Amino acid sequence: MPVDYLALATSGVQALHPYQPGKPVETLERELGITNIIKLASNECPLAPSEKVQLAIRDAMSQLTRYPDGNGYGLKRALADTYTVAEDQLTLGNGSNDILELLARVFLTPDTSAVFSQYAFAVYPLAVKAVGAQAIVVPAQDWAHDLEAIADAIEPNTRLVYLANPNNPTGTWFRDAEFNAFMHRIRDDVVVVLDEAYGEYLDDDTDAPNGLDYLKQFRNLVVSRTFSKAYGLAALRVGYAISDPEIANLLNRVRQPFNVNHLALVAATAALSDKAFLQQSIETNRSGMEQLTKGLVRLGLTFIPSKANFVCVNFKRDAMPIYQQLLHRGVIVRPLANYDMPEFLRISVGLPEENARLLEALNDVL
Ligand SMILES: *Cc1c(COP(=O)(O)O)cnc(C)c1O
Repeated sequence: MPVDYLALATSGVQALHPYQPGKPVETLERELGITNIIKLASNECPLAPSEKVQLAIRDAMSQLTRYPDGNGYGLKRALADTYTVAEDQLTLGNGSNDILELLARVFLTPDTSAVFSQYAFAVYPLAVKAVGAQAIVVPAQDWAHDLEAIADAIEPNTRLVYLANPNNPTGTWFRDAEFNAFMHRIRDDVVVVLDEAYGEYLDDDTDAPNGLDYLKQFRNLVVSRTFSKAYGLAALRVGYAISDPEIANLLNRVRQPFNVNHLALVAATAALSDKAFLQQSIETNRSGMEQLTKGLVRLGLTFIPSKANFVCVNFKRDAMPIYQQLLHRGVIVRPLANYDMPEFLRISVGLPEENARLLEALNDVL
């Protein structure tokens, strides 16, 4: 009898489905034998990487035989300066995905639960179920997090709440007053993870909270951020948490000794110093979002209002055939059936010519 490894896996892992990434350009080239493909599928920064970052990486290549600095001193120093926090409040991650998982490993067991919203980022259920904990999923309100319902859903055994602001894949966001009221309602033995992966794109008129403003008052708050989106370093995998030093100390116990590689450390440090690149990245997104949404309106399409670098379009019918037809026109977007949103496609904001091509392809397909 062959061994049934599925039966040997922990029950949490048995229930998991692997994360489905956006289709890589090279994969589509292989599959369809076409070239000149654009990818608007993974919420990446569409610009070429910062010159400062590229120089820093070139300089760092001579050190590749050595392990990286396991404490990430240089990057932590730069983050502490930039955000006026103490270095012992910082935890670096191999992407902020790493941070989200470390939190689950520190605080969750099969006897505990974590709460997050319906249509929230797919990594939350993965991280929670992988450690065998219970995932409490709270119905969304107009596709957005319902913070009151999330607070109501917390059970005595709840140890973690994951919130994304703005959220992926919906692009929805919550306001400062809502978050403030929420934090005041949460027991202090429940750790609230505020995932600000797209926080740089929140402009002033959103009136969204800045997680850092709450850290002094709420020791149970962990703010998670990344260099993958507005800073344009998705390939390098670097993110971080800002929290109470006691929580940072716990995260530090379970992370891999060298979880962030040397090129990622020097690149992120350089990226933090390149304010012009960040501004350009944000501005490219702002104008690209306007171009995309105006074009969608012209096509008679509806979408969820978004403050991130992507928009979720509602085709009001199975969107998979539309996704496939876009692929045949060399345009990769993201189907959302795995989020229980089979009638939606998520489209990342690209460069002006990429947005135009997407709109043209959509016009053809429809
Ligand atoms: C992209 C994303 C992240 C960050 O992923 P990295 O691991 O830092 O690349 C975190 N949270 C959400 C909601 C995201 O969409």
